[in-house]
Amino acid sequence: MKTCWKCNRDNDDSVCYCAFCGAELKNDAHAEEQRFLDNCHRFLRYERLAYRITGIVFPILALLYVLLAFVYAGYPEQVDEEMIGLVLIPIFVYIIFMFVVYAVLFLGAGLVNLIASFKMTNTLNSVYTDLSVVQRRNGSAKRIVFAAFFNSIALVFVIINFVRFKSNKQLVERIIAKQKGTFNSFN
Ligand SMILES: [Zn+2]
Repeated sequence: MKTCWKCNRDNDDSVCYCAFCGAELKNDAHAEEQRFLDNCHRFLRYERLAYRITGIVFPILALLYVLLAFVYAGYPEQVDEEMIGLVLIPIFVYIIFMFVVYAVLFLGAGLVNLIASFKMTNTLNSVYTDLSVVQRRNGSAKRIVFAAFFNSIALVFVIINFVRFKSNKQLVERIIAKQKGTFNSFN
């Protein structure tokens, strides 16, 4: 029995291509490498998606806070009685100030996430051509701190890839060596 690396279904030992999905069935080592790369690519894509969604949602929240600030800014004008105004206006000023602070924070964090999502395209493209780029990126503690600070959903996928690279060190080295070999044979 050969289990397909792509669709996981069992094929006869004699076949070279999966009878169910058409994937090429090479030896087990190749299948293992392919599966590692595919999963790596998938988790990187999820990480990028998390940055992208946050990069869109946070600026929208920032805009909502700006709108709220405007709504509150118009309110004290309706307060006629002087005594109430003396109490209320400082409270409103404080609330408006906090809304503006939230807006700035959400806008900033949103932009950081958008930039992170754009920067990931390079890493994604390197998975199948030069895994060492991904290895360097995944191995750095800086990545984890960044995600922990700016995107807790992305952090999950950063940690998954971090652990996968650490626990499959030999496999990763073998893939990198093969990729370098292929690259050199073209030159
Ligand atoms: Zn298959």
